[in-house]
Amino acid sequence: MNELLEVDPHQYDAWNSLALNLALAFWALGIIVALVYFIRLSSVGGSKNKYDFINRHEINNLWIASIILIIGGCFFVNANVVELTTMWVFVRIFTTAMMGILVGLIVQNLLKFYYPFFIEKRLKVLRYKPRLSPKTGKPMKLLSEEEEDVHLDEGMIAEENVYSVDYDVWLDEETGFKQIEKYAGHLHAIECPECNYQTFKITREEILQAPTDTQEGELMKHYSCTYCGYKARKTVVLKAQIKLPEESSTATA
Ligand SMILES: [Zn+2]
Repeated sequence: MNELLEVDPHQYDAWNSLALNLALAFWALGIIVALVYFIRLSSVGGSKNKYDFINRHEINNLWIASIILIIGGCFFVNANVVELTTMWVFVRIFTTAMMGILVGLIVQNLLKFYYPFFIEKRLKVLRYKPRLSPKTGKPMKLLSEEEEDVHLDEGMIAEENVYSVDYDVWLDEETGFKQIEKYAGHLHAIECPECNYQTFKITREEILQAPTDTQEGELMKHYSCTYCGYKARKTVVLKAQIKLPEESSTATA
């Protein structure tokens, strides 16, 4: 009992205040990383550019910010040391690392499996938000799959047929101005029919039968879920690649 009384409760004050300052510094840095991302996002002009920016960077940036915040937390829980032996050093390092990894795994899972629902909602809003015509300032019309083909060149149609690429065509009906936006399917997960998470992605595509000028083809899309591992295949009909009469009609007009 006497030995315990002799322990100086302030002997680790230097470490404690260092650990607290490191914790605060890491937390500040983590918040800055997240803030910088959202500031950059808000400075991105145009719905399509915002869409791509979120799709490419949001989860990664939030993950990096989370790791930095967790490291800050590891320092914070070790900023209250009053007694320390060699064994305690190891116990503290070990438990801190384990808790840090555990929290990291939880955050990683949240970002991977729950956060995409939230992202998806925002992406949908961005994709279908009416584009304004730079000519008239009025909202343009989003063409349907059938209407848009006239406005896409052969390469784009072939690409829509062969890969999971979607082109959206926005048309200003007054001036004929059009804006074409490309959405790549393999960069974007959809809802898994098995587990309902937003984790169902195209892993491979193969052409079973290439479309000719007159005959439809067939494409097989292989899907796989990164959460539950559910796999599925889907065949898609490829439109016959009829030459579009657009150029000839303008030439004769
Ligand atoms: Zn699944």
